[in-house]
Amino acid sequence: MDAAIGIDLGTTYSCVGVWKHGRIKIIPNEQGYRTTPSTVAFRGEERLIGDAAKNQVVMNPTNTIFDAKRLIGRKFSDSKVQGNMKLWPFKVIKGHDDTPKIVVSYKGKEKEFLAEEISSMILGKMKEIAEAYLGEVVKNAVITVPAYFNNSQRQATKDAGTIAGLNVIRMINEPTAAAIAYGLENKSDITCKINVLVFDLGGGTFDVLLLTIEKGGVFDVKAVSGDTHLGGEDFDNRMVDHCALEFKRKWNKDLRGNQRALGRLRFACEKAKRILSSTTETSIELDCLHDGIDFSMRFTRAKFEELNMSFFNQCIETLDKCLKDAKVDKSWVDEIIPVGGSTRIPKVQHMLRELFGRKELCKSVNPDEAVACGAGVLAAKLSGTRHQSVKDLMLLDVTPLSLGVETRGGAFDVLIPRNTQIPTKKFKKYTTFQDNQPFVTIDVYQGERTKSTMNHFMGGFNANGIPRAPKGDLKVQVCFEIDPDGILTVTSKILSNGISNKLTIAYDKGSGRLSKEEMEKMVKQAEKYKLEDEEYKKKVKAYNDLEDCTYNMKKKVQEYKVDMRVHPDNLKKVEVEDAIVETTEWLQNNQAAPICELQLKKVYLVFVCAPLI
Ligand code: AMP
Repeated sequence: MDAAIGIDLGTTYSCVGVWKHGRIKIIPNEQGYRTTPSTVAFRGEERLIGDAAKNQVVMNPTNTIFDAKRLIGRKFSDSKVQGNMKLWPFKVIKGHDDTPKIVVSYKGKEKEFLAEEISSMILGKMKEIAEAYLGEVVKNAVITVPAYFNNSQRQATKDAGTIAGLNVIRMINEPTAAAIAYGLENKSDITCKINVLVFDLGGGTFDVLLLTIEKGGVFDVKAVSGDTHLGGEDFDNRMVDHCALEFKRKWNKDLRGNQRALGRLRFACEKAKRILSSTTETSIELDCLHDGIDFSMRFTRAKFEELNMSFFNQCIETLDKCLKDAKVDKSWVDEIIPVGGSTRIPKVQHMLRELFGRKELCKSVNPDEAVACGAGVLAAKLSGTRHQSVKDLMLLDVTPLSLGVETRGGAFDVLIPRNTQIPTKKFKKYTTFQDNQPFVTIDVYQGERTKSTMNHFMGGFNANGIPRAPKGDLKVQVCFEIDPDGILTVTSKILSNGISNKLTIAYDKGSGRLSKEEMEKMVKQAEKYKLEDEEYKKKVKAYNDLEDCTYNMKKKVQEYKVDMRVHPDNLKKVEVEDAIVETTEWLQNNQAAPICELQLKKVYLVFVCAPLI
């Protein structure tokens, strides 16, 4: 297989790694940064992705999209989506099938995008970063997802990869990828089996994972737990809320309706939060924040901790649940690996250490890059790299949530309990409950609640073709199969006649997934956007070239006048100065001129100015 990359598609930042020259390399973007903001912005005719998008967020809050990962695979009516919408400066509307759609203004028109499409733009950017480094087209990728992502969120992320023109060879859980990075980094020290806890607190999601790493590279996941809606963004939001309240208290003015003010405040709070990880006090200063009023506020680490203590406690509770699920005691853990930018928060580190009897946390893996490192290693293995460290890698991952069907009375009957090792295949037989029942409805859910509807509905189908028979006489065998990406396929078989039905959740409409046709349309759209971006870049270049040329000629005229090499009257005669003035004015009035016109103007200017060159 050709080169394959590993992409950590984060809520706030993304990172890409590739195996090269016998080691994993994190690829810097065009700005030299090793992580790229998961931000996409639309500005007039232009589409910006990564740093360029994040850098203009304050000026263009309503068309700068972040947090797509918090929307992906979720319904519009989801309480978490509704909660977040109140804080996002961009507009989200309810689309077909209760799917959330992001609304932006692009090229003078209102455009709607699915979270998959925004994520695909970020993945496309990571692909480009890798291609620039490798000097070749990259097709294959391993993409990471939070361990606690459900089936729709996984599928939607996979779709995003396809839309970006990637062949997603595997999806891997983020903490598992981080553990692989740890295993590789400490290969020589792992002489026997060690028990590891990965504590992954990023920008938008939280995962805990317990696993054992064996000498030679066997990664055996014991249990996973988490929250797909808990991370640094929530801490920022609490800070923003606090500042807005303070503003209201002081000036009796509500800035919550002012998107630009909110965007500026969020930016400042995130920065202050990072500073508070290394100092105990900082201040937030924003000129003319709202209604011409300047905002200034002292923020202490103690205040930050107080505001977010409930979130930190939630993390510890989730960790306790994971230990219980794995049926192990705290003393079982040999090594604690903190992953994700939010594990830099001193209080989080302190609470973790205290919980494990003041045990030191592992510092040998970079919390921002570990996930992409692990994904890159797995990508290398799957693409056939023969290097010893990669070749022997063996991954035994688990499914994070229980999977089952709805039975009579709305009860949830689990076929695959959470933390079952994947890939896996489980069978269960169900009988008819009415005389001459023509079909059995199989509704598939994912979750931990006993009432099926309290869980996540994944799709349903009818096991048709049941012969007439008294109730309880006929059996339908249901099979749940999870592939190595953690994606489920459900089949049913009527045992008396062998008729089978299948629900490939991957392409089922009811699960809210994109149909094949929709996918193809989006792939084409993504290619179109890419071409348009390239065209736009060319246009900007042609404009800048003409502007530079005009400037250079103007400078030359002045030099010639000073040197008295050309008499000013002669310059007039050859119309040089007129041409420069005319081009300067034309540039001001024709900022959206097509490339060919810009190039023609340049040719003309160079021709007229030939005596100067
Ligand atoms: P990740 O998803 O791993 O890229 O983590 C990104 C999150 O980590 C964002 O919410 C950042 O604000 C947060 N973060 C990064 N560095 C720090 C820091 N030094 N202190 C606190 N939070 C941080």
